Formats: sequence, structure tokens, C-alpha cells
Amino acid sequence: MEYLFDGVREFNTKDYLEYKNLFRNLSRRQAPHTLFIGCSDSRVVPNLITKTLPGELFVIRNIANIVPYYRQSEEYLATTAAIEYAVKALQVENILICGHSNCGGCKALFADTSLTSELPHTKKWLELAERVKQKVLSEHIEDELEREWKTEQLNVVEQMNHLITYPYIKEKYRKKEINILGWYYHIESGDVFNYQPEEKRFVKIT
Ligand code: ZN
Repeated sequence: MEYLFDGVREFNTKDYLEYKNLFRNLSRRQAPHTLFIGCSDSRVVPNLITKTLPGELFVIRNIANIVPYYRQSEEYLATTAAIEYAVKALQVENILICGHSNCGGCKALFADTSLTSELPHTKKWLELAERVKQKVLSEHIEDELEREWKTEQLNVVEQMNHLITYPYIKEKYRKKEINILGWYYHIESGDVFNYQPEEKRFVKIT
């Protein structure tokens, strides 16, 4: 546990000093340009992969980077309140859904129920991605790895669609006042793929 305290000491004596002016400027206000919705997975580090600084990203992280449907928003307030605040109060320009390789949440969609019964809240949460599971199952993919990445990528697209069920996002999106992006982060290679809606595929950012 001591490494956590050591981390603060190092932050105070090194990193904080490097960005002292930035922290001063941000001390009473924030104006992030992007709402980043990513997985809680410890290997997905939003500021690292986007090379952004404090003040730039408003971040929501949950298991499998899920956006509940608007009609279910009362049930999942932690996520839906943060979306509401980012879009309506902070007026972000972009919403970015970022999925990733080897996602435990996506894998758990296909886990047998005896496994997930030990995790009732996780199980209920993942029901929000049931459509993704059904779509993948309908493709009868034999290869496990292929099914894995298909699930993770389809899940990103599905959550982008869920965002449009929010009337205040739909309105802004229609007026081109907000961008909705879908990314797929490959942990091992560091590659990030951007979803191209016209081509319906993810294209590596180079
Ligand atoms: Zn994940």
C-alpha cells in the first residue's frame, strides 16, 4: 500500500511542479473538450493514449464502456448523470467511446451463469450489452479470438448508438454541434482504431 503514498510524494515533488501553471489555471474552472467513456480496466489509461493533460477529458469509466439506453437512465445514474453533466453543463465538443482488446467485461457476456451469479451487480450491468451478445452469437464465429475482438468492436458501435437515444445528444448531433467517436484500443501493440461509420469498420489511426 505504501507505493500509493510514495506516488503522491513523487507527484508533489516532480509532476506537480512541471505543470504548476496549468493546475493554477484550472483551479477554479474546467472546460474539457471531450467526454471520454472507457472501460474501468486498469490497462486503459485515457490521458496516456490521447496524450492529454488535466482539464481536457471528462472521464466516465465503467465495466465494458457501456452507455445505458436513455429509457434506462434512471436506473444507472452514475453513468447517465455524468453524461448529462458533460453534455449539458460542460458542453463538450466530442463524446468518445473507447473499447479495448482483452476486455473482461465483454468476455463475461459469454461466461456461464454459475460464474456470473457470484457477481450479481456485474451480471445486471452487463445485461445492457445483451444486444451485442446476440449479434455476435448470430454470426456463429468459431475462432475465440475473432469472437473476442468482434464483441469488443461491436460493443463500441452499439454504445455509440445508445448515445443517440438521449434526446439532448441527438439534437446536438443532428445540428453537428457534437461529434461522436468510437475507438478500439489494442493493448499489446498500442494501436488505436477509429470507427468509420461510412465504411462500418475500424481504421488504424496513423
Ligand atoms: Zn474492458
